Amino acid sequence: MSAYLDQVPAANSALVLFSGGQDSSVCLAWALDTYDRVETIGFDYGQRHAIEMTIRQNLLSRFRDVYPLARARLGEDHVCDLKGFGAVAESSLTRESAIVMTERGLPSSFVPGRNLVFFVYAAAVADRRGIDHLVGGMCETDFSGYPDCRAETLKAMETVLNLGVERPFTIDTPLMYLNKAQTWALSQDLGGEALVDLIVEESHTCYMGERGERHPWGYGCGDCPACQLRKTGFEHFLEMKQHAER
Ligand code: ZN
Repeated sequence: MSAYLDQVPAANSALVLFSGGQDSSVCLAWALDTYDRVETIGFDYGQRHAIEMTIRQNLLSRFRDVYPLARARLGEDHVCDLKGFGAVAESSLTRESAIVMTERGLPSSFVPGRNLVFFVYAAAVADRRGIDHLVGGMCETDFSGYPDCRAETLKAMETVLNLGVERPFTIDTPLMYLNKAQTWALSQDLGGEALVDLIVEESHTCYMGERGERHPWGYGCGDCPACQLRKTGFEHFLEMKQHAER
């Protein structure tokens, strides 16, 4: 993990859970627009595809090229090694198997308690950095049945962190009630075509780690649940734009 205490963030600062996916990229843009100083945190929990970890570094440096607020406000990136958690909470994102619906009605890609663990680590880093706002890309609208993405869960998590760390944390989830088309529209509002293009080109969503073929909506296998959501969301976003231009 990088040095924590080498600089003191401004009072109005945020820590963004940044995986390098579409949602966390839009969250990063939102946080840069909202707060004076923004730091990022990423988690290596032994994902099947190391591609996520390399992509996020590239995305962070490209953000400074295309999103002016990033040049002034984007600070340190923190990477936490959570491979031990990945080993305990094995799912189809951390081992080689197809994504199927389980008997509980959850996709096998569900990693039990993943977002809760992420927020505990984020709070530990944020506390040492003097940061009160934690930002995550969780979303109920495209709810895949992940119980740790619900607004209710994250509200409770906020209370737990406030009590357990004794710091007035807020958990911001700007995408909570947006569908994927609206998420693309938010990136357009925040950073125009340049930001949309950056997220299409450089962010990674595919569960299969596929980056061979470039589709209009970005890279991916096109078939896994994450690609399907990203593809249909982008198509709806383009339809919305065409409709607005008419
Ligand atoms: Zn895919």
